[in-house]
This record gives sequence, C-alpha cells and structure tokens, in this order.
Amino acid sequence: MSHTVEILSVGTELLLGNIANTDAQMLSQGLSELGLNVFWHTVVGDNPQRAREAVALAKERADIIITTGGLGPTCDDLTKNVLADAFGKKLVFDEGSADRIRTYFQRIGRSMTDNNLQQAMLPEGCTILENDWGTAPGCAFEAEGVHVIMLPGPPSECRPMFQYRAKPYLLSLSEGVIASHTIKLFGIGESTMEAQLREQMNAMSNPTLAPYAKEGECELRVTAKAATDEEAQALLQPTVEQVKKLFGAKVYGVDVPSLEYVIIQALKDRGLTLGTAESCTGGLMAKRLTDIPGASQAFKGGIVSYTNEVKHNVLRVPEYQLERLADKDGNVVVGGVVSAEVAAAMAEGVRHVLGCDIGLSSTGVAGPDKDEDGNEVGTMFVAIATPEGTHVRALHLGTRPMRDRLRTQTASHAFDLARRYLSGLDYGT
Ligand code: ATP
Ligand code: MG
Repeated sequence: MSHTVEILSVGTELLLGNIANTDAQMLSQGLSELGLNVFWHTVVGDNPQRAREAVALAKERADIIITTGGLGPTCDDLTKNVLADAFGKKLVFDEGSADRIRTYFQRIGRSMTDNNLQQAMLPEGCTILENDWGTAPGCAFEAEGVHVIMLPGPPSECRPMFQYRAKPYLLSLSEGVIASHTIKLFGIGESTMEAQLREQMNAMSNPTLAPYAKEGECELRVTAKAATDEEAQALLQPTVEQVKKLFGAKVYGVDVPSLEYVIIQALKDRGLTLGTAESCTGGLMAKRLTDIPGASQAFKGGIVSYTNEVKHNVLRVPEYQLERLADKDGNVVVGGVVSAEVAAAMAEGVRHVLGCDIGLSSTGVAGPDKDEDGNEVGTMFVAIATPEGTHVRALHLGTRPMRDRLRTQTASHAFDLARRYLSGLDYGT
C-alpha cells in the first residue's frame, strides 16, 4: 500500500512569520527519500479549536500524520492533547519519560519545574520516541488506520528525532528496504538536467529519480525499494550507470559530500598538494577545503590577495598586468586585474610561492557594483596551474545573484577545474 502523509506543524510563530517552517521542509525531504508521498503541509496556531479542526481533516485524508511542535511544557503546547483526543485516547503519565526528563535537567544543571513533567504525559499505548536532544519525548501510535507521529518543534531536536526515531518506525511500516544513491553534478543547470531526464523520470517507478538543485550544483537521488538490500542495489546500479553515462564529465561523484571532498581525496590518493590564491572569493576556497577533515595532507595553504599590492608583492603578478590599458581607439590591450592573464599569473604565482603541485586562483567582480575598469558584476576568472600548464575558465555569472552566491559559485568553478585535472578529464566550459 502506498502511504499518504500530512505534516501538521503547530505554532503561532509560524503563522506570524516569525520563523519559517524548516521542520516541514526537512521532513518532506526525508520522507520522499523513504518513498512516502507527502500530500499536505498544514500549519495551525496554538489554538485548540483550530488544531482540532486541522487534525480532523488530516485524519480524513492522510494515513500518516506527522506533527511538529507543541510538545513542550508550556500551556500553549497542545499537540498531544488534541491528537490523543481526536483518536479517543487518554494521556497517561509515563514514569520512564519522567526519569529521562529529570536526568536531562540534572545533566544540564538546571532546576526542573513541575510543568516539565507535563511532557511525560503521553497517549496510552503509544510507542515513545525518546528525545536525546532535548526534553520533550515524541511519540507514535496507530489508531483507526492512521499512523500518528509527534515530533518536537526545535529543529535541533526535530531533525535527529526524525532521523533516529521516526525513520526506523516508518521503515517498519513498509515491507522490504529502501536504498538510494546520490549522483552529484556540477556545470549543469537543474532545468537542463531535468529536461534531459524527463521522459525517463516519468517512465520510472522503481527506482525513482529525484532531482535537487543547490548552490549552483545539482543532485540526482536514485531510490529503489526491494525485499533485500542486495535486490535494491541491483535495481539501482543500472540507473546510476545510465545517468553517469548521460552526463559524462559533469558527474563529479556518487554518494560524495562535496566537490572539495572529492578534490582532497584525489590529492591524497595521488600524493599531490594544492594551494589557493584568492581575490574575489576572499578565502572561501581555503575555508571550504579546510572544512574537510584531514585536508592538511593535501592543502598547503591559501593567500587572500585582495589588493594589487599583494597580488604583485606576494604572488609576483607582473605590475603591468594589473592596470587596464586601452589603445587610442579604445581597444583593450591589457585586461587589468579582472582578466584571464591575472587569474593565470595568480595560479602560477601561488603554485610557485607555496611550492605545491597545483595552484588555483580566482579574480572577479562580486558586486554589488561594477569595478573601476567597468567589468560587470559576475565577471569572474578562475585558473588552475599544474606541472602540465595553466588553464583559465572565464565566467559570466550574471549581475543578479547575491555576493555570497557569486563567491560560492566561483569557488566551485575553481574546484571543478581541479577535480577535472585530477580525474584526467578535459577542463570543459
Ligand atoms: P519546546 O519543548 O522547546 O517548547 P515544542 O515541541 O513545544 O518544544 P514549540 O514550542 O512549538 O515546540 O517550538 C519551540 C521552538 O522551536 C520555536 O520557538 C521555534 O523556534 C522552533 N520551531 C517550532 N516549530 C518549528 C517549525 N515547524 N520549523 C522550524 N522551527 C520550529
Ligand atoms: Mg513549546
């Protein structure tokens, strides 16, 4: 049977716009990975009457209801009351949960008020979802053919409670196993990717293909259901191979966390080192590379050469390259600081200065305004210098994206050059 899910978020703050419903977003992502269909997101304030109405409706149309919020000790926390009521259940005191709450308060060194024990009141006969990340336990029960799961509101609790408590419960509802692989792509837009896959996606039911876009990258999640993990893997493999073949060099990995992770691994595998020279990305490349544990074996260091002075004095970029020069007819003779030549000289410079195998660089206009030479926002150059030579990629990332996004994308493009070099691929566009 395929299940239909309604996520019911309780909290007036959500309705007032004080906070965004990130719990529902996180849950929807997690549930779709489990192959469960989320058909409704409902938000209701801390109002018993309207909460009752929302639950009545959810009960009619969904067979799994997952609630967020309103499990805490304050009187506006009404979720358990309303849900228990709707299914004719009483709330009963659970000594085990009360103990856990007492211990939690001892551990964090805060005194407990009586109403904290309110949180130990749970629907009779429910499965208790122990909360190791906060005080309010969650719970799950089945009644009248509907599964109800209640999770706490704070995202720092809701996320692990879903991952470690609700997910196993939900998995036990479906027969067999669900397995998935995530194919990561760089250098292709989500819409192009979807267009190329649409027919296939529509025709497929097991495995399914789900595209995601984030921070200038794309992901494709392939998910299969089967009786055993082996069977699920056997269903997944041909699709993964097919997608890899279709997108070729744009696929940078399967089940890998990020471009920078792939680079660090490849450098380590090959015993090579890398250094960065950054202008417009302001250290973001170095930051992202050092986010990877164990990066020190492969990443030698980075120079944030934001001014021409540093580009020249430290990286040895020739001074004449840094000033834009036009002939008497206005034709540009020297591109200036935002140019392919300077990007190349920076990458070569850092390779030399830091004594590493690969140098990566960035120079460009992150905005919000054009630079002194009249280069548009989003004009970027990234370069790679290696023992085999230097390659520059020119980018026109558009004038609209925010400074942060431009920087992230620029750093990713530089990383893309590195991972292509390390995998023996052409540099692409
Ligand atoms: P507590 O024990 O902290 O009271 P609770 O389960 O009762 O937890 P709420 O009181 O509804 O949860 O919300 C606590 C906090 O969690 C809110 O102030 C808000 O910051 C956050 N929160 C609640 N619901 C959501 C949601 N759907 N998405 C994101 N954040 C949320
Ligand atoms: Mg609360």
